Amino acid sequence: MAVIIDGKAVSAEVKQRVANEVAELKENGIECGLAVILVGDDPASQVYVRNKKRACEACGIYSAEYRLPADTKMEELIALIDELNADEKISGILCQLPLPKGLDEEAVIARIRPDKDVDAFNEANVGKIMIGNYSFLPCTPAGVIELIKSTGVDMTGKNAVVIGRSNIVGKPMAMLLLHNNATVTICHSKTQNLKEICANADILVAAIGRPNFVTGDMIKPGAVVIDVGINRMDDGKLCGDVNFEEAEKIAGYITPVPGGVGPMTIATLMQNTVNAAKLQAGIK
Ligand code: NDP
Repeated sequence: MAVIIDGKAVSAEVKQRVANEVAELKENGIECGLAVILVGDDPASQVYVRNKKRACEACGIYSAEYRLPADTKMEELIALIDELNADEKISGILCQLPLPKGLDEEAVIARIRPDKDVDAFNEANVGKIMIGNYSFLPCTPAGVIELIKSTGVDMTGKNAVVIGRSNIVGKPMAMLLLHNNATVTICHSKTQNLKEICANADILVAAIGRPNFVTGDMIKPGAVVIDVGINRMDDGKLCGDVNFEEAEKIAGYITPVPGGVGPMTIATLMQNTVNAAKLQAGIK
């Protein structure tokens, strides 16, 4: 049976590290602040925003929340971002995605000052991730790397397979695995022989958005299996992209859903907020 990777425990360690850093910065007169913008009333987004606020409180980070109605106009949203870009109390700005129809996500992301872009979605930060010289870590992929490291498995030379090629998860995930010296394959909906490719993975990361997609026969015995997927089922329960019952019998290590990758995404966001405050203060 696989060892269950405890995302809550690893994220608590990261948040403790962040809290210590925040306290140290405070002693030197530097405050860390995160602004979260939520447009519309998507229930999942509301939960994420609440969790981010709680994490800020736990780390000693000032947090400001902006809830705007779903019919907010692009000009209003841009005006708010401009205001936050100029606000010295705010080190990081996050606009919760997806945005309601009619709002241009790309334009919103592009408007956030790169040194306040704690989601690392801005073109400038994406480019830096590609080069490997970054101020901000892509939140979910960086959290995954911490989880893999927590197993003690060395990524060097290992076959790592990422299912999913989104800009938010799949692509930056592949890049971070590459930075950690893994041999990386990215799979997507047009991939042929997906099962065989996955079954050869020492490290398998699923970021698809389809419940129970990865079955036991797609897993190499002893592999590290990371389930990024969050799928809400009809009974209200959350389910990952990996069939957990089948996978845990074959994998060496596996993340649960919930309690795996999710808490790590938020912990990295806290780290990025501190990094933003330092960047703006000219530290490091
Ligand atoms: P996207 O929908 O943007 O991307 C899904 C990817 O899966 C696409 O690249 C798609 O391929 C691929 N895919 C879909 N069907 C198949 C298939 N049959 N075979 C192989 N590949 C397939 O999703 P995200 O990357 O934004 O998110 C993925 C999941 O992770 C979601 O469940 C989301 O909720 C979750 N998530 C969790 C986070 C966390 O903190 N735990 C954070 C962010 C996301 P193609 O490009 O060809 O269409």
